[in-house]
Amino acid sequence: MPMVYLDHSATTPLDPEVLQAMMPYLTEEFGNASSVYGLGQRARQAIDEARDEVAAFYGVEAREVIFTSGGTEGDNFALRGVAYRNADRGRHVITSTIEHDAVLRTVESLERDGFEVTRLRVDRLGLVDPDALQAALRPDTVLVSIMHANNEVGTIEPIADLVAVTHEHSDAYFHTDAVQSTGKIATRMDELGVDLLSMSAHKLHGPKGVGCLVVRSGVRIEPLMLGGGHERNRRAGTENVAGIVGLAKAVSIAHRDMAENVGHLTSLRDRLLEGVRDRIPATEITGHPTKRLPHHASFLFQGVEGESLLLQLDMDGIAASSGSACTSGSLEPSHVILALGYPRERALGSLRLSVGKDNVDTDVDLVLERLPDMVARLRAMAPISAA
Ligand SMILES: *Cc1c(COP(=O)(O)O)cnc(C)c1O
Repeated sequence: MPMVYLDHSATTPLDPEVLQAMMPYLTEEFGNASSVYGLGQRARQAIDEARDEVAAFYGVEAREVIFTSGGTEGDNFALRGVAYRNADRGRHVITSTIEHDAVLRTVESLERDGFEVTRLRVDRLGLVDPDALQAALRPDTVLVSIMHANNEVGTIEPIADLVAVTHEHSDAYFHTDAVQSTGKIATRMDELGVDLLSMSAHKLHGPKGVGCLVVRSGVRIEPLMLGGGHERNRRAGTENVAGIVGLAKAVSIAHRDMAENVGHLTSLRDRLLEGVRDRIPATEITGHPTKRLPHHASFLFQGVEGESLLLQLDMDGIAASSGSACTSGSLEPSHVILALGYPRERALGSLRLSVGKDNVDTDVDLVLERLPDMVARLRAMAPISAA
């Protein structure tokens, strides 16, 4: 049974073109980019070219791009690096309640170290309000971190407005987690106005374990990784040459094919959103109806546990996600769905379907054919009250 993969917000398959670009650096071109001989210098050159491509994509200078091990490291680096380096100016950080755990767990660690954190609430559609941000800014605020687009409900935040408010009313830096948005919507930093941006290659058909943090010149940031002088003394460690080459290739393909891909993704997504809503009663679309990632569809089904639905879908060869997590034996709803204001029982009924460029209409047809019966069967078993 062929698998229908509808979980591209979790990870994506490696693009064959990306693999091809990486192959030499996984085989004969194995040099250390810090070595003086030709083999090392060819690795250095590959990294330099990759950095130029990524910089052009985000509209920044090459020296502003720092390669990392992925989105989690980028978020940790931005938050801890800026907070600790600027603690002499203040110890207040602002974020939102719907951030990825890489941000939320990191701000908790900052609180344990004596920083104060304000978590801005979002509305029912998942939007952060620029006026609420303005009210939260203080003279001692050193950093605002708001994600560009949410991984669980697909909502795109008004980043340019949030940045404008931040820079007009404070000296704080603005960081955005652009892991979900990169390659899907416009992410040029000169247009968004953000000071720091983190991304990850494996969410856009690149390899796992590599990403970058873009840090605009003049931003005071402390390194997390200490050791050699790699990445201009900002991130020590022998460079992941093949990964960096793959990241740049993935970014350039996403850039090249963006218009075509977005049209395709949007049409699949809209067929899912409308098809599921029309075929299954007591269903709600979560996140914003229009300010939404082009590949992202998410739902709440009353009286159903999303986790049970995932198992049913898996039996039919369909890979999807729910956002709930099984912690210490009990099912915990997604913090994002709860932050949107849904009660716990309802929040457990969440399902995310995220499409990719290789999906086709018949993948959506299969979901629209199977899902209504699955939901009806689970509702008949009534694991949770339909009230
Ligand atoms: C996947 C994801 C991350 C984590 O990135 P990794 O490279 O997997 O560590 C961070 N933020 C968001 C919004 C994500 O979707």
